[in-house]
Amino acid sequence: MVPANVGFVKAAYEGPDIAIYVESISTLYADESVIRNISATVKKKLIVRSDASKLMAPDKSLEIIKTIIPEDAGVSNINFIPEFGEVYIEALKPGLVIGKSGTTLKSIVTQTNWVPKVLRTPTMNSDVIKGVRQMLVKESSFRKKFLTTVGKKINRPIMKSEWIRATALGGFKEVGRSSMLLETNHSKIIIDCGVSPEPSVKGSDANTTDENKAFPYLDSANVTINDIDAVILTHGHMDHMGFIPYLFKFGYEGPVYCTPPTRDLAALLLYDYLKLVQRSGGTPLYEEKDIRKMLVHMITRDYGEVTNVTDEMKLTFHNAGHILGSSTLHLHVGEGMYNIVHTGDMKYGFTKLLDMADTKYPRIDSLFIESTYGGNNDITARRQDAELNIMNSIKRTIQGGGKVVIPLFAVGRSQELMLVLENYLTGNSNFKLDVPIYLDGMILEASAIHTAYPEYLKLNLERRILNNRSPFESEIFEIAKGERSDILDRGPSVILASGGMLNGGASVEYFKELAPDPKNKIIFVGYNSASSMGRRIQNGVSEIALPDRDGKLVSIIPKIQVETIDGFSGHSDRRQLVSFVENLRPSPKKIFTMHGEEVKCEELARALGNRMRLEARAPMNLDTIRFK
Ligand SMILES: [Zn+2]
Repeated sequence: MVPANVGFVKAAYEGPDIAIYVESISTLYADESVIRNISATVKKKLIVRSDASKLMAPDKSLEIIKTIIPEDAGVSNINFIPEFGEVYIEALKPGLVIGKSGTTLKSIVTQTNWVPKVLRTPTMNSDVIKGVRQMLVKESSFRKKFLTTVGKKINRPIMKSEWIRATALGGFKEVGRSSMLLETNHSKIIIDCGVSPEPSVKGSDANTTDENKAFPYLDSANVTINDIDAVILTHGHMDHMGFIPYLFKFGYEGPVYCTPPTRDLAALLLYDYLKLVQRSGGTPLYEEKDIRKMLVHMITRDYGEVTNVTDEMKLTFHNAGHILGSSTLHLHVGEGMYNIVHTGDMKYGFTKLLDMADTKYPRIDSLFIESTYGGNNDITARRQDAELNIMNSIKRTIQGGGKVVIPLFAVGRSQELMLVLENYLTGNSNFKLDVPIYLDGMILEASAIHTAYPEYLKLNLERRILNNRSPFESEIFEIAKGERSDILDRGPSVILASGGMLNGGASVEYFKELAPDPKNKIIFVGYNSASSMGRRIQNGVSEIALPDRDGKLVSIIPKIQVETIDGFSGHSDRRQLVSFVENLRPSPKKIFTMHGEEVKCEELARALGNRMRLEARAPMNLDTIRFK
């Protein structure tokens, strides 16, 4: 199908896509319908490249590219990747690198024969994004080999499977270590592979981690590591991805599919996990090189892109509304044999950060749905009430001369709360606190990653970031620098500290300092797992032992006010879960609940079964469900 004057050289598999190499890329670009037609015929994403012999010398190309791209694009980095015939251009304003309907990009291709790939520079400095991008550039020749291997495997002739089944490996009737094995005669896929969010601070008396409950039951699944065709990751939280580097440590060499922001958030949290464990003198599950290995094996896809993960399985990510880049999965197995939707963690309700979860899918036979707040009484406060509640609560404590600490998961709730504070304390609002709001821990880096992916955020937030008015960089926020005790000496303040469940992180340090004074307050806005330090404080524990700087346990008698304000969750409450299912198009035929304490999974399954008049149940770990 490639016209003769384009000079077809070769076609090659590249992961799930097909790359064609040509002599005259500019001739091919002159009529883009050719590319579209080929892509439609082979039903694959088509990548067009120049044959290596036709690539202009990088230094000469660089000069030309610099004259083509307008100055205000804010180009921060240009990297040539000969292995892929691509030039990565990082810019603050990718739109200006692309040009009106792609004209600027096109002139780069036609003048240099390099194919430009545009990456957004985050508006705030992000070491994680820098590190991940540098690593991918450095590992280009490995990536090329890896993608070819994956491509060959995916593009085997389709073998018809007779059966399909799922095995619950973790996170069923519990929260944590989410993992599921999906199998047919010919494919084995792992969906999520997390660790339990239980205490990781060594020596703390909340350290009740039962090793047997910390990791998914991979050893019981009767698969060897090299039988696994692919890992699919719904989002970048530890309880969904914390065990993936372990697979690589033990020899997994296949792909991990996720969205681009999920890759970067996973890098952030995994490296932090390593640091935290090392600092507390523990032995981490894996090393930095295993995390790196995972990152170079990731294949990223945006929402809505249909991708083959094996010859007979097609995957599409949809927005899940939970955190940046979080996805629900649609899996199409066999030619119309079976369709599964897996929600991962999901929010079907208003947040300032993200649109709510998608409810439209091509087909749904079985639905796997999270149940974090699926219990009969899990009805959370209205969002507007929650906002007013927290603002008034903070104000009362500040007026009483106290300090407020809000422990937060660095990724997700932190940004949501920052948006609420920014909204109340700037612009036309007459709500005033007049005290510093400190950000401590990973919150800053996590927010920076958000600014690299504005298209994944709500439209008005996207616009603000694109117009250099990012709320995450608002002047109301101060970065906590230097000694934490200095910050606490400075009088009333609000502190957003990472370490949501107080199982480690900045929040623990602040809690220790603030706990003895009844003027101070700790406000919980997110999920605390059943045996977490956060849950114990929330339940009003009278004495608590926490490690000091040298790891020695010190006893603390908390006098601090403890408040829980719900309504900010990144998870759907019971009503939202039910209306998500009611609004699903098409309706599922069967429902399985997961990711919730036992009683919540059961109550949600019962409620959905009755309401939708279909089979709904709450499988337990190690259950296998045969679909066909
Ligand atoms: Zn999550």
